[in-house]
Amino acid sequence: MKKLEAADSFDQIADLLELKGENPFRIRAYRRAAMNLRNLTEDLESLAAAGSLEKIPGIGKDLSAKIIEIISTGRLSFLERLKKEIPESLTALMAVPGIGPKTAKLVYDRFKVKSIEHLEALVKGGKLQGLPGFKEKKEENILRGIRLLKEGQERMTLGTATALGREILGALKDSPEIRRISVAGSLRRGKETVRDIDLLITSRNPKKVMDRFVQLKIAGQIQAHGETKSSIRTRQGVQVDLRVVEPEAFGAALVYFTGSKAHNIRIRSLANRLGLTVNEYGVFREKSGRRVAGREEEEVYRAIGLPWIAPELREDGGEIEAAQKNRLPRLAEMKDLKGDFHIHSDWSDGQHPIEEVARAVRARGYRYMLLSDHSQSLRIAGGLTEKELLEEMGEVRRLNKRLKPFHILMGAEVDILPDGRMDYPDRLLAKLDLVIAAVHSAFKQPREQMTRRIVKALSNRYVSILAHPTGRLLGEREPYDLDLEEVCRVASRTGTALEINCYTQRLDLNDLQARQAKGLGARLALSTDTHALDQLNDIELGLAMARRAWVTPEDLLNTMGLNELLNWVKRKRG
Ligand SMILES: [Zn+2]
Ligand SMILES: [Zn+2]
Repeated sequence: MKKLEAADSFDQIADLLELKGENPFRIRAYRRAAMNLRNLTEDLESLAAAGSLEKIPGIGKDLSAKIIEIISTGRLSFLERLKKEIPESLTALMAVPGIGPKTAKLVYDRFKVKSIEHLEALVKGGKLQGLPGFKEKKEENILRGIRLLKEGQERMTLGTATALGREILGALKDSPEIRRISVAGSLRRGKETVRDIDLLITSRNPKKVMDRFVQLKIAGQIQAHGETKSSIRTRQGVQVDLRVVEPEAFGAALVYFTGSKAHNIRIRSLANRLGLTVNEYGVFREKSGRRVAGREEEEVYRAIGLPWIAPELREDGGEIEAAQKNRLPRLAEMKDLKGDFHIHSDWSDGQHPIEEVARAVRARGYRYMLLSDHSQSLRIAGGLTEKELLEEMGEVRRLNKRLKPFHILMGAEVDILPDGRMDYPDRLLAKLDLVIAAVHSAFKQPREQMTRRIVKALSNRYVSILAHPTGRLLGEREPYDLDLEEVCRVASRTGTALEINCYTQRLDLNDLQARQAKGLGARLALSTDTHALDQLNDIELGLAMARRAWVTPEDLLNTMGLNELLNWVKRKRG
């Protein structure tokens, strides 16, 4: 978490320096340092303790001192000084996605904008028209940015919530006073964004657990400190609630606090029909008040005549009906996955040599991975020329001899050019084991054009997977305008898989879209889009999307053995 804090601080410094019109080289140095910190695979605090921060590319003496200040004090005085020099409302403007320093300064100087709400009113009132460079499109973008910002302030990504939840569980789980502990709420249901974190425990000494909880390092502010419930707010502003429940009520409380509300309403009404009451304390007979279940979730569901329902399905999206008919899906699990389909190496914009990343993938128990560096047009991401791609192919052949029986599939993440052509010629694509196609440019094409562009790519017999099909970045970029239903149909018809990109800000397809794709007969591929090793863990975020989409092992490409997979690719190639 510290590395993200440091990266954010450096990005903010770069923004503020840009506002002040400072030396572009200095600004770029901060931006580069921020990027390298984000991609860092080692633990920042350990590096600092070992005095080796300067080993990180772009971090010299000055920046390493700043990192140490952040680690030891949680603050950065240089950033605080800069902020004081610049009006607060001007910095606030730059937090809007799509508003850079130039626009912020222009709008601020002209209207003395006091707040985001003020800006919103100005845009809606058409007041920004006529400013240099302001077209209708730009106004739309600002409004969209404001909406994204407001959503982002209320909710964090599943990736952030998962990491935070794990950190708290890790800090608490060795407490001898704690018997059972579980996360609940939307984090347990695996929603793509999460508002706050709910934890449930049983304990013989609740007071001691609560004392320990409110003293956690991450606690910025204590909001409540009681015997059965305490709440803290982390320094990043996330609320975390911890509840102690009786052991005989743990299952009932888990159902209750996992939700969703809609699911729980259905549970309660089913219970009522059986003369039972369900609440956070258990399942009770209405007449006698006698408890009939509560210790385990399974018991609670059984008491109302249902099998246990996986948390990811608890949205009143048909799971109750399926449970009643005993037709709940056998959801995909981590142990079903045999490979990862979207991995970058330092041949393009990944952080590691192929061998290093391949060994890390193998160590996770996978049997294969698809190496998918960028294609020639994507120069900013180190896209490979035809010659380089052929060299990489040779390297993969050599490595495969060494890594047997693990297998690196030779592939590429090939750009879909604005007109729908692929960024490599077919004769080159034919040499690859498996080709991923992706949109990385001209995001603003109108719906029809974008749909036609992607459909054309799917119709290429060498394209086996469409990566991040909608292009959205949570809190940063809306999906491009696209007829997703048409894309799913064509994917299904042509035998092309659609990716569930597991990167924390993408989750693309998301749960609803993946369910739609499955419904239309498309196959799905879980891929981490790994650029740095710790991103391999993001597979669990994508798996949560898949499970929320009712995805079974048969729906996924990742569950195929190597030969089965290669045969599947061949079927489309004809
Ligand atoms: Zn991509
Ligand atoms: Zn990629």
